[in-house]
Amino acid sequence: MKHEEVRALRKAFKSVKERQDLNHLNDIYARSRRLMSSRELCVGNEILLEEAVMNLRKNGIKVHLANTKQEALDIILDEVAKEKLIVKSKSNVTKELELTKYLEKKGITVVETDIGDRILQVMDQKPSHPTGPVTHLSAKEIAKGISKYYGIQVKETPEEIVKIVKGDILSSLEKANVGITGANAVTSEEGSIILTHNEGNINEVMRKQKHIIVTSIDKLYPDIESAMNMLKILSFNATGSIIPSFVNVITGVTKTADVEKKFIRGIHNPSETILVLINNRRREFVEKGFKELLYCIGCGNCLLHCPMYNTIGNEYAIDSYLGGKGLAYHSIYSGESDGKLELCLGCGKCKENCPLKLDVPEMITKLRSKGTSSEIYFFLKSHILWVYYQALLRSNSE
Ligand code: SF4
Ligand code: SF4
Repeated sequence: MKHEEVRALRKAFKSVKERQDLNHLNDIYARSRRLMSSRELCVGNEILLEEAVMNLRKNGIKVHLANTKQEALDIILDEVAKEKLIVKSKSNVTKELELTKYLEKKGITVVETDIGDRILQVMDQKPSHPTGPVTHLSAKEIAKGISKYYGIQVKETPEEIVKIVKGDILSSLEKANVGITGANAVTSEEGSIILTHNEGNINEVMRKQKHIIVTSIDKLYPDIESAMNMLKILSFNATGSIIPSFVNVITGVTKTADVEKKFIRGIHNPSETILVLINNRRREFVEKGFKELLYCIGCGNCLLHCPMYNTIGNEYAIDSYLGGKGLAYHSIYSGESDGKLELCLGCGKCKENCPLKLDVPEMITKLRSKGTSSEIYFFLKSHILWVYYQALLRSNSE
């Protein structure tokens, strides 16, 4: 990552930390404890998962269970059918599936509708934060990148950039018949799907004729109340606000029974709501003793406080697997201990600032270690590199 990108990243992280201080979330510790209990109860709980699927189906939602990445991709392609344009919202699970690349290979155009994600898409860049993907790019750099893509001269102001990108997104939203979103939670008691966003784009994407929701089996919560508690903690840690602008709860399909009490579905859009629930090796995480990694709610607070991430940015990452937690996840998922794990300083700042107190440094040690001498070597290597990159960053800013 370039030095100016690291500086932009640090600036954005600082402003989130300041907002967290200003908007202190009441009872944050009690809330975090409640979140921890619901994650302990739900992750890997096949009985609760079955109950959720049963209730979702009762509510008229078509549920597909996909064990592997390829199964999930085939199901989604089948649901997309003959459509050639898809509008999509931010989703870590679709990134994990590399869904956009797959659909594009099949001749389908996929347009991201989140402003930051659309900017990344047109600039062919990697994300730097799970909820703020272009945090590392300045308005100047974005204007340069999107001017080239759209073939016009875009002014270097956030307002102008958003106006141009929004116009592009709106034209695709008008034409598309299928929308794909992720989900933040699936609840067992009600059979509900919960989505949250600040931009309002999900409101538009989910009103296409067909709404396909792609998420994973670890997003399970016992009920709506516990999912709402998670959303508050997620929002506070990711952006500093105590609740996102929009929370959508889907517990069924559009329907009426107004005429002779006969149920007719598909009154308004979406006429079909489809949920694709993927496993993609999550059950192996549980079996291998890394169940805790699945408790993660993707708030990104660990990144805000990680000294290595604040020094080399998304060089301390693989694609959208960001920072120590992302690298640990990727190593277990791919079955290979990645060399970037050696960059972890073992400082514990991520654990300290994680709402679930996930012990990422311990997991990294477990994954990379070949004994005490190798740990001494990794300690020295990571600290020397960190000091070196810090010095480079400082000399470059002088
Ligand atoms: S322990 Fe490793 S991943 Fe965690 S904050 Fe320190 S350097 Fe980052
Ligand atoms: S590891 Fe913790 S702090 Fe980091 S994204 Fe997950 S829940 Fe948030």
